Amino acid sequence: MDCIFCRIVAGEIPSHKVYEDDATFAFLDIYPAARGHTLVIPKAHTTDLLSAAPEALEAAVRTSQTVARILHNVLQAHGISIVQNNGRAAGQDVFHYHVHVIPRWEGDKAVRSWRPGETDHGVLGALAAELRAGGGT
Ligand code: 5GP
Ligand code: ZN
Repeated sequence: MDCIFCRIVAGEIPSHKVYEDDATFAFLDIYPAARGHTLVIPKAHTTDLLSAAPEALEAAVRTSQTVARILHNVLQAHGISIVQNNGRAAGQDVFHYHVHVIPRWEGDKAVRSWRPGETDHGVLGALAAELRAGGGT
């Protein structure tokens, strides 16, 4: 399979490992938003949040916590942003599921957020009902 992150797991492309266990691999992002910006991936190829097995997601979240603690302890990060993009529309560029673990310091602007929109309880109530009817599957 022509997947750049699978090739990193296989050692065919060099990377800078931060942490590894049986199910996951964590390595420094090559275009970091901040010093210590780490990517956490399941070793087994899976494309995105929608298609991933729950076990792969659990393992990735556990490793994200481990990496967050490393960044907190070693780099004295004040905070941690988790970014996780799914689909081209969301900015996913590499189609092997990955979690960005980004250390944050007071006053940095390392991660851009959304602009808060406006709505009201009537609209939210109808929307939430529509989403609940979708059944969560
Ligand atoms: P996405 O936009 O898919 O959420 O994030 C993909 C990330 O992978 C980007 O932050 C990009 O810098 C990183 N990336 C892409 N290719 C490589 C690579 O070959 N090595 C490493 N370490 N990171 C990569
Ligand atoms: Zn892959």
